[in-house]
Amino acid sequence: MFEAKAYAARDAKSPLSPFTISRRDPGDDEVRIKILYCGVCHSDLHIARNEWGQTTYPCVPGHEIAGRVTQAGKAVKKFKEGDIAAVGPMCDSCRQCGPCRDGLEQFCENGTTFTYGSKDKRHGGITYGGYSESIVVSEAFAVRMPQNLDLAGAAPLLCAGITTYSPLRFHAVGRGKKAGVAGLGGLGHMGVKLAKALGARVVVFTTSPGKTQDALRLGADEVVLSTNEDAMKKHTNSFNFILDTVSAPHDINAYLQLLRLDGALVHVGLPPEPMGVDVGNLIFNRRKFTGSLIGGMAQTQEMLNFCGEHGIASDIEIISISKINEAYGRMLKGDVKYRFVIDMASLK
Ligand code: NAP
Ligand code: ZN
Ligand code: ZN
Repeated sequence: MFEAKAYAARDAKSPLSPFTISRRDPGDDEVRIKILYCGVCHSDLHIARNEWGQTTYPCVPGHEIAGRVTQAGKAVKKFKEGDIAAVGPMCDSCRQCGPCRDGLEQFCENGTTFTYGSKDKRHGGITYGGYSESIVVSEAFAVRMPQNLDLAGAAPLLCAGITTYSPLRFHAVGRGKKAGVAGLGGLGHMGVKLAKALGARVVVFTTSPGKTQDALRLGADEVVLSTNEDAMKKHTNSFNFILDTVSAPHDINAYLQLLRLDGALVHVGLPPEPMGVDVGNLIFNRRKFTGSLIGGMAQTQEMLNFCGEHGIASDIEIISISKINEAYGRMLKGDVKYRFVIDMASLK
C-alpha cells in the first residue's frame, strides 16, 4: 500500500478539500499511473453532491484520467514504465458474463466497478477516482492515448468522448443523416465534433445564445436556441437522431417531436429528477426514446484511435485543483468552454 494525495467531498454540502487516500501496490496484471490530467465531468458534481442518492463519502471523483505508467506488474503486456495511459469511468467488471465477453463491461451483469464511489468487489473498499496523484488499475481497464493529441485535451475523451461516440455508432449516425445535439457542454461539444467527423449534418440545440459562434466553429451546420418555440418547430419530423446531453430536467417532448419516422432520441444526460414523456410522441412516427451509458473498453480504444486519426480532442480550460469548487459553480451555470481539466501538478 502507499499513500496518495487527493481531493474529496466529505458530504453533499461541503466544498471538496484535500484528503489522503491509500492505494494498493499493483498486482501482476495492473499498472500504477501517475495522474497528469483529469477532466471534470458533470457526473462528478452530481455524485459529489449526492444528487443521484447513492454517494459514499468520502468521495474522490474524477474519471477522465490521463497519466504516465510508473510501475507495471509482471504480466502486463500493453504498457511499460514511462508509457502514457488513460482510465475512464470503469476500473473493473466480472470479465465473465455475457455483456463483459461482448465488450460491454459498462453493463456487467455482476455490477460494473466504476472508477470512483463503487464497491471494489475484487480488492475490497470503495474506489477513489482521478482527483488524485495516482491510480492503480488492471491493464484491461486502461487504454492507450493517440500520440498526436495534446494529453490535457485528450483526457475528456475518456468520458465525454466515449459517451457520445458510443450512441453515435450504435445508431449508425453518418453521411446522409441529420443529427441533433442538445446541450453544448462537455459531452455536447464532443458530440458535435464526433457527429461531424462521422459525416452527419449536425444541429446544436442550446439555451445559451452566446454559444452560437462556438457551436459553428466546433462543426455544427446550424444552431437552434431551444428556448425559441418557433425555431424548434421548424425542425419538426426531420431528425434521424438527437443526442440529449442536458444535465437538468427539461422538456423532452419538444425534442421527440423533431424526430422523423423511426428516429431516435438518445438521452445521455442524467438529471436527478424524472422527466415526463408524452407517449403520443413515440406512437406517431414510431419514434424511439432511449439511453446510453459510456462505452465498453474496446470501443473506448476505437474512439481514441478515431480521434487520433481525425485530430479530435476536447476544447478545455485547465484549472488547478484548488479551483475545483469554483469550476463546479461555473458548470452549473453552463459556463464551461467546454471542459475543465485539472492539471494534477497543482495537487501539492
Ligand atoms: P455540462 O458540461 O455541464 O453540460 C451540460 C449542458 O446542458 C450545459 O452546458 C447546458 O448547455 C445544458 N443545460 C444545463 N442546464 C440546463 C437546463 N436547466 N436546461 C437546459 N439546458 C441545460 O455537463 P456534461 O459533463 O456534458 O454532462 C451532461 C450530463 O451527462 C450530466 O447529467 C452527466 O451526469 C451526464 N453523463 C452521462 C454519461 C452517460 O454515460 N450517460 C456520461 C457522462 C456524463 P447549453 O448552455 O448549450 O444549453
Ligand atoms: Zn463522466
Ligand atoms: Zn460482467
